[in-house]
Amino acid sequence: MSGKDKRSKHTVDAFVTWLPEYCKDCRTCEHICPVDNLSFNGDKMVSAGKCIQCGLCMNYCPDFAVEVKPKPKKPSAKSKEAVK
Ligand code: SF4
Ligand code: SF4
Repeated sequence: MSGKDKRSKHTVDAFVTWLPEYCKDCRTCEHICPVDNLSFNGDKMVSAGKCIQCGLCMNYCPDFAVEVKPKPKKPSAKSKEAVK
């Protein structure tokens, strides 16, 4: 057994996690990000610290190599009423 974790995760920033073993280096994530948060330094994904948690990189990565922490849900008007 090699002991290498095939699902090893790389923390790119506070919201984005990257699984390099799954990445095929297509750069879709880099091009689709609306705030130019993602880029590659050599073969390593790096962040500009501007992520707005839109999820596009995760949804469009063909290899499921990006995970984005979901935005916390805003309480609805109804639930706000309930706490009054
Ligand atoms: S979209 Fe996915 S497979 Fe393509 S470069 Fe980004 S992380 Fe890698
Ligand atoms: S979640 Fe959206 S803003 Fe954040 S890195 Fe991915 S595409 Fe860019």
